[in-house]
Parts: sequence; structure tokens; C-alpha cells
Amino acid sequence: MARIPQSEIDHLNQTISLTNLVQSDGIELKKHGKDYLGLCPFHNDISPSLIISPDKNLWNCLGACSEGGTVVQWTMKLKDISFRHAVELLRGEVATKQVKSSDDTPKKTMNTQWASEQDNQILLKRVINYYHQVLKNNSEALPYLKDRGLVNNEMIDHFKLGFADRTLGYLLPQRGSIEGG
Ligand SMILES: [Zn+2]
Repeated sequence: MARIPQSEIDHLNQTISLTNLVQSDGIELKKHGKDYLGLCPFHNDISPSLIISPDKNLWNCLGACSEGGTVVQWTMKLKDISFRHAVELLRGEVATKQVKSSDDTPKKTMNTQWASEQDNQILLKRVINYYHQVLKNNSEALPYLKDRGLVNNEMIDHFKLGFADRTLGYLLPQRGSIEGG
């Protein structure tokens, strides 16, 4: 069995919140200044003598047993298991939390919305260009514009004026791709 590197032990002792761990082990904690107080599970505690320091992530019993230590030492003593077993348990704890925090579903949803927005813009441009071409090739539409004083071809091009003669529907691959969005 390979020796557990000190760096990993330090990592577990720093990453896992001792206050959360102690509470998840069923011990009620009350805030006391910067620290938390609870009933010590290692001796017959009547008045809370277990003190947890979130700053240092350490625990200490001020009562009969005078025990204390790190996250790993807490797990060893509470579950009455070996050092190696405690490290393996806590390693699993950290891995589970990392899986939960890497859930990036909202980000993916935003990307999809952005992509479909771009698609809509491209589709809209294609519709505008299509009707613009229809206008320029239509024998009735141009005289109509001429009557209204809109005779400048440059202006027609610039504003992409179009003539919606309802022929576009026959050319689109799917009607649903406009409305569906
Ligand atoms: Zn104690």
C-alpha cells in the first residue's frame, strides 16, 4: 500500500469544512463568537464543550476527554477507523462535491439560445434579400414605387426594400424554421 502524500492530507483538512462535517455527523452546533460550540461525542457531555474553529478548521474538546485535531482526526475518532480509511472516506466526500459543482447546465442553455438567435438573424437577412430581389425583378412593383416618387435604385438597394409577393414560401425548406425559432 502506497503512503498517502502529506499534500493530500493537507488538502482534505483544508477543503472540507469541519463545521459542515460535524453537523452532518448529527452534532448540533451553536455560534459562539468566531467559533461554534456543540456537545462532545467522545465523552458524556452535558454542557457543550466541543469547540470548532472555522478559521483554522480545527476542533477541540474543553471537557473531560481534551481531544482535538483536524478533519481527518475527527473522522478517525468519530467512526473509530484507521487513518487510511478516514482519508479514503473524505476523498470520496470531496469527489462527490466536485461532481455537483461542475454542473454547467444553465451555461449550455444560454449558448443554445445565442446560437438560435444568430440563426434567426441569418434567416431574416435571407428573407430580406429574397424579397429585395423579387422587387427588382417585378414588372409591377417598380412602377408602383416610381409613382410614389421612390425611383432611386441606390436607395432601394441601400434600404433593401422588398416586395413580398408570397413566393418565398415555396422556396423555404421548412416553414417551421421561421416560426419555431
Ligand atoms: Zn470531549
